[in-house]
Amino acid sequence: MPFDYAPAPESRSVVDIKASYGLFIGGEFTDATDGTPFKTISPSSEEVLAEVSEAGPSDVDRAVKAARQAFTGVWSRLGPAERGKYLYRIARIVQERARELAVLESLDNGKPIRESRDVDVPTAAAHFFYYAGWADKLDYAGLGSAPRPLGVAGQIIPWNFPLLMLAWKIAPALATGNTVVLKPAETTPLTALLFAEICQQADLPPGVVNIITGAGDTGQALVEHPDVDKIAFTGSTEVGKAIARTIAGTRKKVTLELGGKAANIVFDDAPIDQAVEGIVNGIFFNQGHVCCAGSRLLVQESVYDEVLDSLRRRLRTLRLGDPLDKNTDIGAINSAAQLARIRELSDIGEAEGAQRWSPPCELPEHGFWFPPTLFTGVSQSSRIAQEEIFGPVLSVLTFRTPDEAVAKANNTPYGLSAGVWTEKGSLILWMASRLRAGVVWANTFNRFDPTSPFGGYKESGFGREGGRQGLAGYVKDRRDV
Ligand code: NAD
Repeated sequence: MPFDYAPAPESRSVVDIKASYGLFIGGEFTDATDGTPFKTISPSSEEVLAEVSEAGPSDVDRAVKAARQAFTGVWSRLGPAERGKYLYRIARIVQERARELAVLESLDNGKPIRESRDVDVPTAAAHFFYYAGWADKLDYAGLGSAPRPLGVAGQIIPWNFPLLMLAWKIAPALATGNTVVLKPAETTPLTALLFAEICQQADLPPGVVNIITGAGDTGQALVEHPDVDKIAFTGSTEVGKAIARTIAGTRKKVTLELGGKAANIVFDDAPIDQAVEGIVNGIFFNQGHVCCAGSRLLVQESVYDEVLDSLRRRLRTLRLGDPLDKNTDIGAINSAAQLARIRELSDIGEAEGAQRWSPPCELPEHGFWFPPTLFTGVSQSSRIAQEEIFGPVLSVLTFRTPDEAVAKANNTPYGLSAGVWTEKGSLILWMASRLRAGVVWANTFNRFDPTSPFGGYKESGFGREGGRQGLAGYVKDRRDV
């Protein structure tokens, strides 16, 4: 049993949450004209945090018009170095307001403050710094000479990394000279709305960034809007497919960052203690609400008992509870709907014959919680080995040879990420060339860096975000007029 820590809560007095928020269109917060407002709650307590506007079709139209006007009137005429200056300014303000952003993210999303403070917010700032640097060097990005922006980008993001996904979308779009209309997820709109204030603080020309809140209908109206040049979507494979169908046959460009079911593969020569840390980070980071989570553990049979014993021992030390407590490892599940899905798939896993195990773990009375969970005896055809659970649930499988590990790792409809644990560099390279995954980590997991492209194969989507490659989704092909 872990010894007791004294509570170490981060103060929430650093954030000023308003009772209600409008839409951020043309540089100002305005009332929605045709939607019904909705509430955003803290998933750890179910406390209502704020009321948020729903953008209906006419609001979406206003936002797209504001973005178009800013594109033709200001942003596309600005020198690249000037665009870079705005991005540097935003990056610095994100850093300056880091504590506020981290507390707000943990309140609205349920993730531990340790993660929002040490991962989400600094990585978001790093993306703005990184793409600020590209703004005046686009001629050297391998995209041809003088690459041209697409125009207005409609961007739709999920709830698992609200500010970070916003940064992944907005930074490269602005660096390449586009303007944007971004829609955050309905359960986590608050850091995007604070980011709107940051755009005002940075004196960003009105209409360059527009933030509209709402759920799927708002997203769909944005996708269908005829004056949007590009849709950048991160979310579920199901919605991604629907978007691809809507856009088919139009001139709109699209990039899709969708779901995953990554294999984290541990060979018998791996440093077991480090691998166990990587397994824990791979699936329990952000409650497993991670598209590239290492949700399938593949262990070489000869070290199966050793790895599982260590893993169970380690899981007993994880602290689940108040996201604002600095000692918390596992926070709340983001919504009642997501909790219901995790429960349903876990019950299916048991019904299919897998053995379920969780460490002793007291769940708070209010809010949405799920204990860290392992399933052993999982067969490849089991739904918990094939479907994305998007929660703190690990399915454990075994293998004997590298060929078998590759075959099992690739045996899902997804192809977003994978992890390999071994001390042999040659085996890492051999595996990496055979794994159908956009990212392969070796002796680490869930590492993100703005210089490194990220994206999927198969049903994990197409297009890359991050790195030089992340610019390509926001510039015209040479053949485009
Ligand atoms: P989701 O697809 O339900 O929602 C994502 C966003 O799309 C939300 O903003 C939502 O309001 C909007 N939306 C819903 N229906 C829409 C429609 N018909 N048209 C347009 N927009 C619509 O996904 P989610 O539950 O919010 O997020 C979890 C999923 O996101 C997981 O599958 C996860 O793997 C994926 N994800 C992928 C990446 C990646 O980079 N590949 C990163 C994070 C999350």
